Amino acid sequence: MQTYNRLPVTFSRGQGVWLEDQNGRRYLDALSGIAVCGLGHSHPRITRAIFEQSQRLLHTSNLYGIEAQSLLAQKLAALTDMEKIFFCNSGAEANECAIKIARQVGHQRGIATPGIIVMESAFHGRTLATLTATANPHAQKDFGPLLDGFYRVPFNDPDAVRALSDNRDIVAVFVEPVQGEGGVCVPETGYLQALRKTCDNNNWLLMLDEIQTGVGRTGHWYAFQAEGILPDVLTSAKGLGNGIPIGACLTRALAAQALGPGSHGTTFGGNPLSCSAALAVLDTIEQEGLLDNVRSVSRYILEELRNQLSDINGIQDIRNRGLMFGIELAWPCGELVTEALEAGLLINVTAGNTLRLLPPLILTREEADILVDRLVPLIKKFADRRGKSAVQLAPDSVCQ
Ligand SMILES: *Cc1c(COP(=O)(O)O)cnc(C)c1O
Repeated sequence: MQTYNRLPVTFSRGQGVWLEDQNGRRYLDALSGIAVCGLGHSHPRITRAIFEQSQRLLHTSNLYGIEAQSLLAQKLAALTDMEKIFFCNSGAEANECAIKIARQVGHQRGIATPGIIVMESAFHGRTLATLTATANPHAQKDFGPLLDGFYRVPFNDPDAVRALSDNRDIVAVFVEPVQGEGGVCVPETGYLQALRKTCDNNNWLLMLDEIQTGVGRTGHWYAFQAEGILPDVLTSAKGLGNGIPIGACLTRALAAQALGPGSHGTTFGGNPLSCSAALAVLDTIEQEGLLDNVRSVSRYILEELRNQLSDINGIQDIRNRGLMFGIELAWPCGELVTEALEAGLLINVTAGNTLRLLPPLILTREEADILVDRLVPLIKKFADRRGKSAVQLAPDSVCQ
């Protein structure tokens, strides 16, 4: 089905941060399959883990013990201080699990219509419950009736969440630590701490969607770790399998007691293959010191972008957490994606006017230089063109 407007290119192989198309042309992948291939393409450790597991066992179902699933659960729990984990196959499924946990906790408290606070500009997926939690009216159009029990407030506004404290139906706050699809929106430092406090005061679950920000993307295993708090529910997917589909819903404390036998399930989720791949991803990030790499390369890129873009009109903002970058322009800039492709660079535009970079966590300084050298001239030419012809948009950011 035509659910995507595809770019006119087909890749046939990849190596590290490079992709090669059917004609042998090479592209620097600064998008990582939308924050999935954090270790780049054809990483030998991942290839070996998949190969070795596939020689032994691919699938048995969750009716039996699964060694790789137990090992992955232990590893993830140790890295996050979470306690119990449900494995599935995608981000949306991980979020569905989180939403079901919140609702079940509500019902156990005698709340007939449990509510979840979600944010403006949020993205949580495309299934019906996650689409309801997603803010984009464009994505929701034609798919009603959506679900009840979601309360939307502005992002990056702890007071707006606190203001709902009198609502006796609410059981959880569900939020991305950095909004990815929403425009790479980075909240004020202390935002998650403030939400944690409000949740504690009201006996609400703090549920973090770290599907894009997790698995090292921000320079921490998970972004919440920068604020020294713990969520009650944490969702992960995208970078967890480096391209092998896997999602996870991690829980602790009261939330870890939800969803007993028969209350939730999946056929494929947590199978030996995807869990072996994810274990190899986590081991590789650890053994190759990639969290440190993310921190240092991201600082370097930020400095280069700030220096080289400083004299260009129409740059509204440069935002980042680790290797999640948003360059907000004063005009809709979708055409830059095709121009970058022609220049051998894969990038993305989100929220209409924000260039998004999600390069692999293995990116070196030399590769970062190539990225910046290919990107900056395109932005300059674009801003030049627009600056002469079009009316500048209002300078307020897409982010709240
Ligand atoms: C991509 C994404 C999702 C949805 O994940 P899928 O695997 O596409 O279902 C949910 N939340 C966030 C923050 C995401 O970036």
